[in-house]
Amino acid sequence: MTIYEHEVKALISAAGVPVPRGVVVRGTDFGAARDLAEPLVLKAFGAGLVHKSENQAVALGLRFSELEAVAAGMRARLEPAGFLVEEQAGPGVELIVGLVRDPAFGPVLLTGLGGVWTEALRDTALRLCPISEQDARRMLASLRGAALLDGWRGGPPVDVDAVVKLLMTVGGPGGLWERLELGEFELNPVIAGPSGVIAVDARHLPG
Ligand code: ADP
Ligand code: MG
Repeated sequence: MTIYEHEVKALISAAGVPVPRGVVVRGTDFGAARDLAEPLVLKAFGAGLVHKSENQAVALGLRFSELEAVAAGMRARLEPAGFLVEEQAGPGVELIVGLVRDPAFGPVLLTGLGGVWTEALRDTALRLCPISEQDARRMLASLRGAALLDGWRGGPPVDVDAVVKLLMTVGGPGGLWERLELGEFELNPVIAGPSGVIAVDARHLPG
């Protein structure tokens, strides 16, 4: 069974992880997205659609009035089960936050630099769950790209406390790692900005 992005987001959001406001549209009527704040992001979802951007199944920077046409284009190429329309988060440093269940060590929290450069950079830190707040801060400080958190392209520093809070929500005492129905999952990217973090992608990793 595939657990879709919006379903993972509903679970993590209920646990306190900030996610974009969004709606799921299964037909051709995008009226449910009318109340979302532009710019909007349109994402097709379906059983075969794991890496959405590689399949041109993600469109950023849309107006409400553009949704139908862009969705029609995706529907012509892909066979989506539906669409997730969500508000587009502001800029920030793209991080990855993941939970993996190692057969020998058990639940392990992963964080590092995320987004499109994840594989190229391989800049991540791992800790066994449950982590402490000090672990969370040390994980971030240990990244080769840690300096990005101090200020991004001359911009203001990232809200590191919000990143730490998110890491604790996933990997800390009583965190999401204890929720077996979530199995292994990856939030990539989490956009870390000057005033908060937001998980704009969430993927359940079928085990
Ligand atoms: P993929 O399945 O390719 O990982 P994502 O959902 O991560 O698809 O979307 C691809 C990229 O689009 C993300 O890495 C991020 O930069 C951007 N993105 C996706 N959703 C949002 C959003 N709600 N707000 C801002 N940027 C987003
Ligand atoms: Mg992603």
